[in-house]
Amino acid sequence: MKYGIDIGHNCPPVDTGAVGIRKEDELNKQVGDRVIEKLKALKYEVVDCTPSFASNLGNSLYKRVNKANEEKVDVYVSIHFNSGGGRGTEVFAISKEGKDIAKRVVDAIATLDYVNRGVKDGSWLYVLKNTKMPAILVEGGFVDSKEDMQRFNAEKTANAIVKGLTGSTVNEKDSENGDAKPSVDIALLKMQNGLNILNILDYTGKKLNEDGIMGEKTISSVKRFQGIVGLEINGINDLKTNVALANILSKPLLKFGNNNIVANRYIQWRLNIIIDGIFGNDTEKAVLKYQTIKKINVDGIVGIITWNGLIV
Ligand SMILES: [Zn+2]
Repeated sequence: MKYGIDIGHNCPPVDTGAVGIRKEDELNKQVGDRVIEKLKALKYEVVDCTPSFASNLGNSLYKRVNKANEEKVDVYVSIHFNSGGGRGTEVFAISKEGKDIAKRVVDAIATLDYVNRGVKDGSWLYVLKNTKMPAILVEGGFVDSKEDMQRFNAEKTANAIVKGLTGSTVNEKDSENGDAKPSVDIALLKMQNGLNILNILDYTGKKLNEDGIMGEKTISSVKRFQGIVGLEINGINDLKTNVALANILSKPLLKFGNNNIVANRYIQWRLNIIIDGIFGNDTEKAVLKYQTIKKINVDGIVGIITWNGLIV
């Protein structure tokens, strides 16, 4: 048995996925890599059908299909996440055989507490139309749904897909009690590191373990940070939170009247004054005071030396 796994999009700049609370490309990759790994662990042959480059979108799709057809895989699986305002999981197929596989996969993903949108007709989808074997296109959830993204776990989704395809899971015991080994998320690892640099402590008052795992402590720090910078407090390592964190870590120059609300709010939080995002008289006064105490150039401007005093 030979599986062709196509990690949706991930072929920039011509073929990139949807962007919502999280990026589809990231999720497809996290899930797809694990599906490949798990199928191999179960001793199946696996062909990665994801192209490393393409000249345009059509070429990206063509290469995926061509790889599957040339390698004569037995089943083709394209892995995606949805966007557009819905929630839940759905799997597309055309042939009867494809739809049977699709049904097992969508039911397996739905056991992770996703809305089961069922098997859908995929006769409009290029990769399903042009592959010569039973083929499915998995939509693991919606990248713009808060519920779906809070639930998202690459390890569990990959286990479910493999379970649907083969009837087995690699970490059978772990996944059955709903307690699969948490997956390390590189983006989250960066977030945890950034939160530690910014001294955003967890609910126990400590810095985070930089382990790439979304646990209660990390969620509490993410929420605290979102509150400080004025974002929606959802505890998700989402794009807006990443952008805000990167903004502050870049140590932007802040002086009277600047409009960097996110960074101003952070400085106000650090200086323990009212957080309103406006660098006015009160903020300038607080900065002057901080500079005086720290014996650094007293100018009321948050430049690199002042930043270096606050975040190391
Ligand atoms: Zn997609």
